[in-house]
Amino acid sequence: MTTRTIGLIGGMSWESSVTYYRVINTTVRERLGRYHNARSLMLTVDFAEIEALQAQGDWATAGEILADAARRLELAGAGLVVLCTNTMHVVADQIQAAIGVPFLHIVDPTAAALKRAGLSVVGLLGTRFTMEMDFYRRRLETEHGFQVLVPEPADRDRVHEIIFGELVHGEIWSESRSAYLDVIERLAARGAEGVIFGCTEIGLLLSADHVRLPVFDTTRLHAVAAVDWALGDPAGDRSTEIPEEAPKPG
Ligand code: GLU
Repeated sequence: MTTRTIGLIGGMSWESSVTYYRVINTTVRERLGRYHNARSLMLTVDFAEIEALQAQGDWATAGEILADAARRLELAGAGLVVLCTNTMHVVADQIQAAIGVPFLHIVDPTAAALKRAGLSVVGLLGTRFTMEMDFYRRRLETEHGFQVLVPEPADRDRVHEIIFGELVHGEIWSESRSAYLDVIERLAARGAEGVIFGCTEIGLLLSADHVRLPVFDTTRLHAVAAVDWALGDPAGDRSTEIPEEAPKPG
């Protein structure tokens, strides 16, 4: 059996694009056997350019760059486009409109995993854009029916600063891990039954083993859903990311 070709828009940041590449290829190996890997293309944008446009709030120009990347992937033979960042799903519609192949929205496999786990109230960690703008929460709340809790403002600042100041540069610090665990505890105290790692670098800092609540790591869920598609299954249906009961941190 061979796989269909997955098109990945990477570089936001490349530290997490590495995780996509690893998860996609190890999942194909687990399913098809030794020597197998996914057919894939990755077009890596320069994050400095995207980050500057984010800071200016110029989403339209960033959307043009990513739509152009998606078009190039389609022309090169990709049958599916996967945008390897949560934040830039703010321009998901602009990207989908530019291509004739499907765009795999990162919220959808995440929502499918939340449903399988039977959760209804979930905490969301991500960049300030993902936590505060409505593109991400609206899809979870309106289209999928979840109640989404985001951290209080000071916690949002800290979560965002750790992403942009450390994680996208590959810097992993135990103090920052503790800070995230404290934020998650405050979300749990407000009723969160699970936590979405809604930024593709959070899994570099924390794993389910660190966290008392069920964890939904969007990077892994998105990558596995891409494999489901590549192997011919409807995206999301075979994702195996049902969170296990995690041990207590410490
Ligand atoms: N990778 C991150 C995310 O999933 C943040 C980097 C970006 O702003 O694109 O949102």
